[in-house]
Amino acid sequence: MWNGDSLLNKLYNEAVSQHQANAKRELRNERRPKLKAALREVIGQFESNLGHAPKRLERVQCDGFVRERVELSATPELTFAAYLLIPDHAEGPLPGVLALHGHGYGSREIVGLRKDGTADEEKPGIHQHFAVQLVKRGMVVIAPDVIGFGERRLLSDLVKDPDTSSSCYNLSTQLMMLGKTLTGLRVTEALKAYGYLASRPEVNAGRIGVMGFSGGALIGYMAAVLEARLQATVLMGFTNTVKDSIFAVHHCIDNYTPGLLVHAELPELIGLLAPRPLFLESGEQDPIFPVNGFRKAAAEIKAIYESEGAGHKLETDIFPGAHEISGRLAYDWLKNALTNLA
Ligand SMILES: [Zn+2]
Repeated sequence: MWNGDSLLNKLYNEAVSQHQANAKRELRNERRPKLKAALREVIGQFESNLGHAPKRLERVQCDGFVRERVELSATPELTFAAYLLIPDHAEGPLPGVLALHGHGYGSREIVGLRKDGTADEEKPGIHQHFAVQLVKRGMVVIAPDVIGFGERRLLSDLVKDPDTSSSCYNLSTQLMMLGKTLTGLRVTEALKAYGYLASRPEVNAGRIGVMGFSGGALIGYMAAVLEARLQATVLMGFTNTVKDSIFAVHHCIDNYTPGLLVHAELPELIGLLAPRPLFLESGEQDPIFPVNGFRKAAAEIKAIYESEGAGHKLETDIFPGAHEISGRLAYDWLKNALTNLA
């Protein structure tokens, strides 16, 4: 056969058979740490920047909450900004959420701001200003600017096209050639933002969760797998099998991690979050993370949660909609999950 279709199918099927054989052969207590270590390995490591002190850039009183902007750094040569939303009239330390946006113009898109930083009074886009939804429910939210979008596009890309939508391509390809990945960098920065949130006096460090949409959910699940102190996770517009989503539909290159599929398919990796509370949301008409793949993945994750005696800690919601956030159940679920931790 001259085309590669059957070769790709054969390699995929062999990889999946190998996962199943390994899962049978290896004890649960052996396979889970092994997969976690493999995940850490394939996304690449970044040197930490322990000497950098967080810097407050602004503090604005909004309707019902204060919005701070802080500058952080996870790795040398690179700083990033994050918005911190703190509810007014907080009594005692509150639950906290690491909020991770997907493709778009950056964290402003989820904290109720337009690209230029002015208040966005229009009907929200697919991100639904979800960080605002969370702070209004009494949680302190940190929303870091994910590298590659908005103000964090590469200067070398902006010189060529000031309207370029992202720098995912150049960041991904160059980091891969250096044995690292853009996902690894994004996860490293997300965990730094988590650490900063946990250090804030307004926050109960024992009650912090993560909510991510699309590319933000990719960062979110990996961050939560690698940081066991993230107590609850909400993944929106992302959960699927690799086969039914990023292999079936054209996706941004930042979705591809060299060698990841040698170790496990996505549902088993997300299943590493068991027995911690997990909520999975998907639009019925999502064209890039199709609902049939979501259903398959959710069933597999459910089986993992049940085998961990934690079936009741996993909830899902398929809503009428496309590649977007609904939040109709997810926001309140997260508040309850963080408030009622065992
Ligand atoms: Zn991208």
